[in-house]
Amino acid sequence: MYLHGTSTINSKGHLEIGGCDTVELAEQYGTPLYVMDEALIRQRCKEFVDAFRKSGLPFQVAYASKAFCVMAMCRIAEEEGMSLDVVSDGELYTALQAGFPPERIHFHGNNKTPQELEMALDAGIGCFVVDNFIELHMLNAIAGEKRKKTKVLLRITPGVDAHTHEYISTGQTDSKFGFDLANGSAKQAVSEASELPHLELLGTHSHIGSQIFEVGGFQLAVEKVIGFAVSVRAELGVTFSVLNLGGGFGIRYTESDTPLPVAEYVAAITSTVREQFAKHGYPLPEIWTEPGRSIVGDAGTTLYTIGTYKDIPGVRKYVAVDGGMTDNPRPALYQAQYEAMLANRAAEPEEEVVSIAGKCCESGDMLIWDTKLPKASTGDVLAVACTGAYNYSMASNYNRLRRPAVVFVKDGAADVVVERETLGDLVHKDVVPERMKPVSKAR
Ligand code: PLP
Repeated sequence: MYLHGTSTINSKGHLEIGGCDTVELAEQYGTPLYVMDEALIRQRCKEFVDAFRKSGLPFQVAYASKAFCVMAMCRIAEEEGMSLDVVSDGELYTALQAGFPPERIHFHGNNKTPQELEMALDAGIGCFVVDNFIELHMLNAIAGEKRKKTKVLLRITPGVDAHTHEYISTGQTDSKFGFDLANGSAKQAVSEASELPHLELLGTHSHIGSQIFEVGGFQLAVEKVIGFAVSVRAELGVTFSVLNLGGGFGIRYTESDTPLPVAEYVAAITSTVREQFAKHGYPLPEIWTEPGRSIVGDAGTTLYTIGTYKDIPGVRKYVAVDGGMTDNPRPALYQAQYEAMLANRAAEPEEEVVSIAGKCCESGDMLIWDTKLPKASTGDVLAVACTGAYNYSMASNYNRLRRPAVVFVKDGAADVVVERETLGDLVHKDVVPERMKPVSKAR
């Protein structure tokens, strides 16, 4: 397993993260346990902010909180000078409870409810990323009732679809998100938004995909958006001041993943922006971006305890852990790949190929197929790397498993930032109607 950030193997042959022995963490806090390398999270935040600062362009780096949204993470984002992207009242509430400055919050989503719009307007957030015509007019009306004027970006689908090493120009119309560039609805949205008295239109937002390793997709998106901006200025007299290019920067889950350093992504994007805007004689906009996975993904490691195993001679050996698709649904959802090691025997040679199974009642509850480990047995601590993004935030209580605790580790100290759920938590919201209550047997 590749050792990310501060991960190392200590003199006891144990995996250590943030100066903490993971075997001791597993004993102290139980498993499954999400361990987050705080220094690595902060390093990633700094890499983005520093790279944009170096470009000389005005910018905002908004952490996409959907990747991992807890109050302690919002504190880090704030301290590192980031903005914050939220997609629901729950994420907004978490940010506000954490004391995140509302003026640096951007609200996304294709179906924001009137209550969510009200809550965000009352909080005084910095910007709404408006997704569709219904939201556009609803937001204007609610802002009007509150005698407010609020800043908006329009989410457009620029017709670029990028994932990993591939990006394609699609002219894509078939998406649940945003105003389509190709069929004219984006232009119509600009025309309507710029007339609405309670909205201040700043510019456009686009998000072209996830786990992107090439800069070409981002560059193509910039070209499409500048083309749009130029025609909108000519036809409607509207000039954009903000260009939000979304997130999607790739990270190294396994050795076959080859992401660029953050500085390279940012340098390629900002130089394309400079070049394209100069070419069209268009004033340079503020560049916003929304990294999620690339801020927290490789900072996370999940610790599990190995329980049972099943060796099918000539077929495979299944090694079962005390978590699974409940704490990491990504392999079951979209065949995401991970690497693992035995945290308590990290220096031992890998001897066998095994497949890591979760404990849920689903054959598809597999965390890793065919990975090399030392001969694993009951009680060993398994560490799965790169679980910081879209694991805790996508976790569920399927099979009524309790969601794990999250600890931040740094300089030899561990802080619990989310407590492990208790059995009591699982029934806390259950209600048994009076007529179903167990009748105490009369003597
Ligand atoms: N912005 C938007 C609009 C998104 O939909 C997403 C992810 O789905 C992100 C940002 C963050 O993407 P990533 O975590 O891949 O950086």
